[in-house]
Amino acid sequence: MFHGDIVSHRWELTLQDLPEGGYSWDTLISPREMHEASAGGVEAIDGLVGDVAWKGSLVHKGQVYRLTGQWHACVRRSCCRCLRVFDWHVAGDLERDFQLDGMEPSERMDDVLEPPGYINLVDILCEEIWLSWRSDVVCREDCAGLCSGCGVDLNASSCRCEKMDDDHPFAILRRLDFGKDD
Ligand SMILES: [Zn+2]
Ligand SMILES: [Zn+2]
Repeated sequence: MFHGDIVSHRWELTLQDLPEGGYSWDTLISPREMHEASAGGVEAIDGLVGDVAWKGSLVHKGQVYRLTGQWHACVRRSCCRCLRVFDWHVAGDLERDFQLDGMEPSERMDDVLEPPGYINLVDILCEEIWLSWRSDVVCREDCAGLCSGCGVDLNASSCRCEKMDDDHPFAILRRLDFGKDD
């Protein structure tokens, strides 16, 4: 659902032309649209799985244009422990203030833009996803990972290190009970 007048494209707007009642949206964006709607200023998110949920509003208060929103995305990633590919769910809230250059700053602003204040809501969304990006993502919190000895995926099977030791010619020595007195 979109409310307010949209200039040329639903994800591109100029702050100067923001309608009195502001602008709000609550929609899903396909990975293809994420690419196509970007102005190219932000690196694209590769491996998006399904649509990105993007809900927010932009309102004009005094000299400040306040953008608030929530988003949710799913990205195909590789688990840092077991290396399996999985769907990484990531979500965030944002609140950003924009101001047009040339106005008196009432307080320190996050973003000061040249008039008429062009913004691209998909690029802002991409920025937010990158800000939430982590390198140490796991397929699940209790992922057991790979054994550093035998390399087996400990989620799927048990470690073979012990077994390999048993095949060793001197493995029999480990079975002797040296703790007994008799
Ligand atoms: Zn894992
Ligand atoms: Zn092992």
